[in-house]
Amino acid sequence: TPDNEVRFRGCLDDVAAYKPGRPPARSDGRPTYKLSSNENPYPPLPGVLAAATEAAAQMNRYPDMGAVDLLEALSARFGVPVSDLAVGTGSVALLYHLLQAAVSEGDEVIYAWRSFEAYPIAVQLTGATSVQVPLTVDARHDFKAMEAAITERTKVVLVCTPNNPTGPVVRADELLAFLDVVPRDVLVVLDEAYREFVREPGIVDGVEVYRERPNVVVLRTFSKAYGLAGFRVGYAIGHPEVVAAIRKCALPFGVSHVAQAAAIASLAVEEQLLERVEALVDERTRVVEELRAAGWDVPDSQTNFVWLELGEDTVAFAEAVQAEGVSIRPFAGHGARISIGEREANNLFLAVARDWRK
Ligand code: PMP
Repeated sequence: TPDNEVRFRGCLDDVAAYKPGRPPARSDGRPTYKLSSNENPYPPLPGVLAAATEAAAQMNRYPDMGAVDLLEALSARFGVPVSDLAVGTGSVALLYHLLQAAVSEGDEVIYAWRSFEAYPIAVQLTGATSVQVPLTVDARHDFKAMEAAITERTKVVLVCTPNNPTGPVVRADELLAFLDVVPRDVLVVLDEAYREFVREPGIVDGVEVYRERPNVVVLRTFSKAYGLAGFRVGYAIGHPEVVAAIRKCALPFGVSHVAQAAAIASLAVEEQLLERVEALVDERTRVVEELRAAGWDVPDSQTNFVWLELGEDTVAFAEAVQAEGVSIRPFAGHGARISIGEREANNLFLAVARDWRK
């Protein structure tokens, strides 16, 4: 055997790797678009870019590990004590840390399925078992079935609201009724990555819910509404003991200077950023209406993406959209998730979707 043969024997061979989306490559010089990762299509606001650029000059120094200024800014923004807040390299990192702190082999983690594709990976990495509860036919959480899935081994329930990749948001009445039946020693994670895109009335705010219920933790992110996906900043809001457990698992110095500065600057110009969110919500309404007019059955979307159930046609559909220079996210055999992006990109996708129904 050659000397450079790999001798590494991983114990994670059966863990599926998270597959990132990439914009399609084109040789004909036409623009390409990425509608596969639910990113914000707007470029940075000048003030945010300036703050990040200034922070980049500190690259020879480690960032503030305590993220003191960012935590204080979040504390002021949400009216919660700093002890109830943790920041991480995207809300996905906070989810990993939380699961690492809360579960191990033999434990069960319940979540709806289909939902965020990081959930099964994050759970498997802890050695715990995923209990996936199918969504209802209208792509919503089935809380009766989730309640029935709780056992003494259940340690965590993940509630993705609004749900990625299908779009609907959990209503206040159903969430509060579910929280009433979940045992107090089971953590409920409200993954609110798309919270700022919700327009449906009668929705509970995770930040209000956790104040009354110490077993509820809220995860949010600067990646979507605030347009900082590339800088990796998310935050958790929860009971101080839960937050302390998350912090223990975090990699030291994970959130860079640049990310901290950009997040603080984003909170300072939040009003302008939320105007952009409003425009994306309007665009979402247009895309959903056009799809429905073309005969598609589109679940309600309270996010910056839409979901098309395509079954066995999923991959062929994604390839047809890709041929127009637009990447979307196919889930083979089930459906495709298409982000709301630049108007031109949305139009390219809509043209393919209309043709598909003819
Ligand atoms: N939760 C959900 C439901 C998501 O869709 C995403 C991003 N795709 C995340 C969490 C993670 O976002 P980030 O790590 O960028 O904060």
